[in-house]
Amino acid sequence: MPTNLREALVEEIKDIYNAEKQIVKALPKMVKGATSDELREAFESHLDETENQVTRLERVFELLDEKPRGKHCAGMAGILEEGSDTLQEDAEDSVMDAMLIAGAQRVEHYEITAYGTCIAWAEALGLTEVAEVLGESLAEEKAADEKLSALAESGINDAATAGESEDEMEEDEEAGSRSTEGPPQTGVSARSASGNRPANGSKNPTRQRGGRR
Ligand code: FE
Ligand code: FE
Ligand code: ZN
Repeated sequence: MPTNLREALVEEIKDIYNAEKQIVKALPKMVKGATSDELREAFESHLDETENQVTRLERVFELLDEKPRGKHCAGMAGILEEGSDTLQEDAEDSVMDAMLIAGAQRVEHYEITAYGTCIAWAEALGLTEVAEVLGESLAEEKAADEKLSALAESGINDAATAGESEDEMEEDEEAGSRSTEGPPQTGVSARSASGNRPANGSKNPTRQRGGRR
């Protein structure tokens, strides 16, 4: 059991290290399950980022003088299990994409919370470099989350509502009959998802939320 904040930090780092590795295994299945090219590309590029995030955590272990070791993250396992259930569904293409985005955003929000906490603790402990390295991954998670919102809101949700394929949707849009009804994909911002304060805003140029107008 951790007895001080530094030990608690190491435990959290082990948790997210294991979580990232679970995500590296799960993302290729999401790539296969996605039907929109853009969504597939978003998953593929986040897979590259995630592999790099694993390496970054190994650097963090080094900075903390700890061996890189994971500890089973039951939270991420649960989220990913729901995602794999989604992939078993027999849904319309755009509905499948909308559901995959929903699952992927749960993953991102879990990570945003975990990194936010670790960064705040590292800063409290004066571990500036640890906080900086973790901040790079946090920025990627936030960007991934926003990208997913943008994809959902710029066509996938509308296509799923109409029960059309996205190709048909694009034709509709060209014809100027784009529907604007329906709630946005997410109501929760990355910031409020973070358990501690939003870590290091200066490093994370806020992107504009796309899609809605
Ligand atoms: Fe990650
Ligand atoms: Fe966890
Ligand atoms: Zn992620």
